[in-house]
Amino acid sequence: MKIEVFDIPEEGLALAVEETPKIEGVKIIQPFKAILRVDKRGVEVFIKGVVSGEVELQCGRCLKEYILPIKTLLEVTYHPVQHLNKEELIELKRDEMDVDFYREGLIDTEDIIRDQILLNIPMKPLCSEDCKGLCTICGTDLNYSECGCIVQEIDPRMAILQSLLRRMKANG
Ligand SMILES: [Zn+2]
Ligand SMILES: [Zn+2]
Repeated sequence: MKIEVFDIPEEGLALAVEETPKIEGVKIIQPFKAILRVDKRGVEVFIKGVVSGEVELQCGRCLKEYILPIKTLLEVTYHPVQHLNKEELIELKRDEMDVDFYREGLIDTEDIIRDQILLNIPMKPLCSEDCKGLCTICGTDLNYSECGCIVQEIDPRMAILQSLLRRMKANG
């Protein structure tokens, strides 16, 4: 939903919303929930709350899809973007950890939830810290079975020597 900054009452707002933001490479099966407390002071808006839900990611090692639950607290101060010049924007970003901006008097709760999901998704998703991944030779999922492939790295100089020896034997 979109929060109209102008309509936020003196005593603030308590919101419970559900959103399913679109994020590339991330599957969201059920809507994310957010419980938010919204307060306004002048043109600044303070939003505090909790965002929770689940995303489906693909493990970077075994390529299996897995569910990652996310539950996170947020505390963000919103400033109207048109009231600030560039130096002020940079200044704000440095001073406050969680700063965001709103445009045209609107704050979209879908954006709030999307930001929290993005902050909580690992750079390299893994179904488990000790996922063994796939065999690079036969593709067997090593979490379930062993394939017996021997992964050996042959020194290229040794390979030349081996083929020379083989040829000598063949000729002799
Ligand atoms: Zn895995
Ligand atoms: Zn194998």
